[in-house]
Amino acid sequence: MSSHFSSPSLSSDPVQGPTPPGQTPGEVLALISSGVAVTRAEIARRTGLARSTVSHRVDALIAHGFVVEGTEAPSTGGRPPRRLSLRAHGHAIAGVDIGASHCRVGLLDINGTLLKAREDPLTIADGPEAVLGHVERTLHALLEADGGTPPRTLRAIGVGVPGPVEYSTGRPVDPPIMPGWHHYPIPEFFGDRFGVRALVDNDVNVMALAEQRRAFPDAMHLLYLKVGTGIGCGIVADGRIHRGAQGSAGDIGHIRVGERDDPCRCGNSGCLEAIAGGAALAERLRGLGLEAGGSLDIVRLVREGNRQAVRAVREAGRAVGEVLSGLVNFFNPETVVVGGALAAVHDQLLAGVREAVYRRSNPLATHVLRIEPSRTGENAGSIGAGLLAIEHALSPAQVDRTLTRDATAV
Ligand SMILES: [Zn+2]
Repeated sequence: MSSHFSSPSLSSDPVQGPTPPGQTPGEVLALISSGVAVTRAEIARRTGLARSTVSHRVDALIAHGFVVEGTEAPSTGGRPPRRLSLRAHGHAIAGVDIGASHCRVGLLDINGTLLKAREDPLTIADGPEAVLGHVERTLHALLEADGGTPPRTLRAIGVGVPGPVEYSTGRPVDPPIMPGWHHYPIPEFFGDRFGVRALVDNDVNVMALAEQRRAFPDAMHLLYLKVGTGIGCGIVADGRIHRGAQGSAGDIGHIRVGERDDPCRCGNSGCLEAIAGGAALAERLRGLGLEAGGSLDIVRLVREGNRQAVRAVREAGRAVGEVLSGLVNFFNPETVVVGGALAAVHDQLLAGVREAVYRRSNPLATHVLRIEPSRTGENAGSIGAGLLAIEHALSPAQVDRTLTRDATAV
């Protein structure tokens, strides 16, 4: 019962939902890619379809490059059946991670393996046309330089942005650090240029997805805390991203901490972000006469052993831990992953976080709780955005659409 791509055996996978009946090629592909049925005989048994119908579906998937028939599966006698698997070659998925001051574009295969990625400095406040135009050029360059044999066809694009998104339309909604992006039609921008669907989500959501699928596949309930300039939280509940009614679930940066009254950019005071965010820490260190422009300078100072910076990061960790202890009591996660720019000094940050969580949380909730630094690191955003796009590209309805479209294009 682990990730979307390797569930061993199940009739009702919590990630993927009930096993599809296998009536269409897309549904047959879901049986193969989830590992539920990987030979023609197993598919026939599972679906109740005639062997000839199963062969027709499988042949269509092979012809369109979704499936390969490879090494022989174990057999109890007679001619061993050939094992079917998802074909990694020939398809490309783009995973785009747009930050406040950088943009990372990754090219993945259909199994979610990151093939290559390029990061450039970029200012999100320059607005959607400038930023997305840059992403478009980078993606074209990556696809051209790929050289895969056969050439990969782009199947879908995933995009993570640092602000709230209405997931159904892929449009940012009043994003505080993204002037000019409110309601901008990001999916249409990419759809017009690449002819594929683009899925857009808040960056912490896709980062949470990357950690859960890649590093902690057994953790069905996971929180991903991003501690950088700002602070946010991605939520994986029962193996799925939880976005909330308006897509703003996990916006924990403005939860009040203790009796502090540090002013926050949101207009309130005592917010977590105003106490423990990278921007707030840098400002405090500047007040002590240190050279600190932002999160990266704090990381540098801590690595240099600067005692004031180490103390500031530990205190930030305790403030994050104070909020997290409430979240742990409420949500009961198995795993909390701490990422973002300040997680580069996780020894100091996590010491403070753990101290506060284990002191304040309900022992029942912390009994099996793990608090870990990010394992996907700087690629979390592009891998997670790519995984979001893959889940779309491999959904039965989309596979059936792709087969029909490819057939009419010939
Ligand atoms: Zn605030």
